[in-house]
Amino acid sequence: MSKSKIMIVEDESIIAEDLADSLRAMGYTVVDIVASGEEAILIAKEKQPNLILMDVMLQGEMDGVTAAEKIQSSLQIPIIFLTAYTDNKTLQRVKATNPFGYIVKPFEERNLHLTIEIALQKHQYDPITLLPNRSLFRAKLSEVLSHKNQPSFNINESHKYQNYPKIPIFYISLDRINRIKVTLGSKNGELVLCNIAKRLKESIIGIDMLARLEAAEFAIILKPVEQKEKAINLAQSILDIISQPMVLEGYEVYITASIGITFYPLDDIELDALLKNASAAMYYAQKRGGNNYQLHKSEAVVVSIEQLSLETSLRNALKQSEFEVYYQPKVNLRTGKIVGAEALIRWYHPERGLVSPGEFIPLAEETGLIISIGEWVLRTACNQAKIWQEAGFFPFEIAVNLSRRQFVQRNLQERVIKIIQEVDLEPNYLELEVTESLVIQNEKAASKIMRAWQMFGINISMDDFGTGYSSLSYLREFPFDVIKIDRSFVRNITADSKTGAITIAIIQMAHSLGLKVVAEGVETQEELDFLRQHKCDEIQGYLFSPPLPTSKFEKLLKEGKMLI
Ligand code: C2E
Ligand code: MG
Ligand code: MG
Repeated sequence: MSKSKIMIVEDESIIAEDLADSLRAMGYTVVDIVASGEEAILIAKEKQPNLILMDVMLQGEMDGVTAAEKIQSSLQIPIIFLTAYTDNKTLQRVKATNPFGYIVKPFEERNLHLTIEIALQKHQYDPITLLPNRSLFRAKLSEVLSHKNQPSFNINESHKYQNYPKIPIFYISLDRINRIKVTLGSKNGELVLCNIAKRLKESIIGIDMLARLEAAEFAIILKPVEQKEKAINLAQSILDIISQPMVLEGYEVYITASIGITFYPLDDIELDALLKNASAAMYYAQKRGGNNYQLHKSEAVVVSIEQLSLETSLRNALKQSEFEVYYQPKVNLRTGKIVGAEALIRWYHPERGLVSPGEFIPLAEETGLIISIGEWVLRTACNQAKIWQEAGFFPFEIAVNLSRRQFVQRNLQERVIKIIQEVDLEPNYLELEVTESLVIQNEKAASKIMRAWQMFGINISMDDFGTGYSSLSYLREFPFDVIKIDRSFVRNITADSKTGAITIAIIQMAHSLGLKVVAEGVETQEELDFLRQHKCDEIQGYLFSPPLPTSKFEKLLKEGKMLI
């Protein structure tokens, strides 16, 4: 697929040479093979490879994880770890370096190839706006922070740093972009993003990096400022620039944005904490109706009070029947028929209105409430599937999401089985969706439980494939029946030929392992055509239907809505 330059860090020379041969056969250039962490750091600087394959266990003082940390603190190079075994402690350390991939030895060439391509792809610029993507943004921020970090820096004494130069970080989200996508189509939605990226690039002075994080979210690292006011003025200019009207298909379109601002080192010195500050402040700006900016400090208290009250209401939500399960159809690409649905929870908060799962699932996990909520969703969804089957819509598969915290529950394995027995649904019509990070973090327990379910007849799918480590070996080691290709891939399959090629490879590989492939978040006809042409099995997405409440879903079934 490409002529990228790869460096190998591996202390066993036979393995290293073998690997180099394989890489060359795949069409990559091997820029160097080194055996120690110290050398790896030097050579990475000198040769600037596009990617590094790093053995975790290296002879000598420094192991692969430390070497990777050092390299990533100054260079933006994706690193894939190679390891012969995966104990938890090493995994935790590997995870902390934000690796782009993870391969367990001995590996298959095809796995290796695909993992490399996915890593290179994630490292690209965002193909729509041509801005750096989230990975590059994080790498840049970590670089900026590592230059500035003083060893004696103490966040509890941050008031002492009032007079230090401050690095402002902005988190920007375009308001109501979905409305534009729905009314004018996703192509125009992309045009809006490109247009705004261009305006920001051309008119804002003092930017160190402007990146597109995802969907309609951008982030900015500014050059250090002496006074906060300077950054605040800039935030106002950004709002002004974004809100200038734009003409799309003859219509005048107005876009506004919400901006969250945080300052290093005043607000925090850690990368993740800074990003969290900025996004929480952005969220607060959104809640204030959009088209405004908010500073981290000023609203932090408000956010945490809001959080607290959210927690209290979450505790009551089940009792007060504020939850509802929505169903999003899954459609078979060969027959065009609805073959099942994914159950997606919705929460109608009495005052706030609809709260999205992205917002309350993490809170439900933190508080342990996810266990009872999860059981409720499972029972409700299985019950509904049974009702539809009995009404003649047969076969009908129901997919239910499980989250990380649920795997810590004792008896999860038995509880799930008990629920479907009570509902009397044939287990092969239930699919449980788990994410890669869940599996990685609970390797032993997860594998045991998943196998038991599979023996019982339940199907297991890997959700959001392509967003995490994309460790292909997990697909084989764990009992998956289905893989769901994440929307971040689907979104780019037609715009970016490389993403297309990787998606094809994922489909082929999954099929060769006997797995069914479902594509998530299909929004356009072009995406659909591509997936159909490349033999993806099923799709889900707004193109066919958004998630629907029970009655509306039933209407689709009765009408016999088909994909054309
Ligand atoms: P997920 O399992 O990956 O679900 C797919 C998400 O993509 C859903 O978001 C769905 O509404 C959205 N989606 C579907 N089609 C499209 C499309 O064409 N374009 C775009 N942009 N988005 C599309 P939702 O419902 O907000 O759920 C978000 C996440 O929350 C889910 O991601 C899942 O991880 C979690 N979640 C939802 N319900 C439950 C639940 O009952 N239990 C647990 N543990 N997690 C849940
Ligand atoms: Mg899912
Ligand atoms: Mg998903």
